[in-house]
Amino acid sequence: MRALFISDLHLSEERPEANERFFSFMEAEAAAAGALYVLGDLFEYWIGDDDLDDPFNAVLAGFFRRLAATGTRVHLMHGNRDFLLAQGFCRATGADLIPDPALVALDGENVLLMHGDTLCTDDLDYQNWRRTARSSAWQAEFLGKSVGERRRAVRGLREKSKEVIQAKPAEIMDVNEETVREAFRRHGVRQLVHGHTHRPGQHRLVVDGEERSRWVLPDWYGRGGYLEIKDGKPRLVRW
Ligand code: MN
Repeated sequence: MRALFISDLHLSEERPEANERFFSFMEAEAAAAGALYVLGDLFEYWIGDDDLDDPFNAVLAGFFRRLAATGTRVHLMHGNRDFLLAQGFCRATGADLIPDPALVALDGENVLLMHGDTLCTDDLDYQNWRRTARSSAWQAEFLGKSVGERRRAVRGLREKSKEVIQAKPAEIMDVNEETVREAFRRHGVRQLVHGHTHRPGQHRLVVDGEERSRWVLPDWYGRGGYLEIKDGKPRLVRW
């Protein structure tokens, strides 16, 4: 079994290099894998499945559809940018939505998958916003707006979030060590894979006397890359 993990591609029409890398990744590495896990923030933003007619979104959906047709299982987790991806996207692409967190058995060992934002518990403003945006009331109101209104609203939010992020110390936007330990304990795993923090690598730690690894996926703002788990062995690949 060979499974690949990607996250934080932040795909949008505005970044053609990332799109090209994504297209060749889908046709080569992903097509040769048994499963592809997209652990959130595939899109820079997603305003609702009724935006699938947008030409850029339709092209991306086509790559997923062709990948699913070659026999690669595609599993999709929400990120903080694309948490409105829903069943319409799944029907159009052949992907299925998995919860955050998700436990998957790979070669007989459970691996914990997360987007990563729920580990950043020091960022109280963000955690408050997350609760709001994940509530059915907020989502119903947002999805009730026209596509044009939603696009404008998202543009406003992105500008605001850029300012907020620049004003925040970097540690606040990284994971909280105790929250990470708690996740390893609760799920009883040795391996955790997540994205979101843009600090890629293998972060080792010992919890309850046992060595664990937190694998952080690279974002595609920079070089990009993916994690491969083959025969139970993880390997981070960066371009
Ligand atoms: Mn994220």
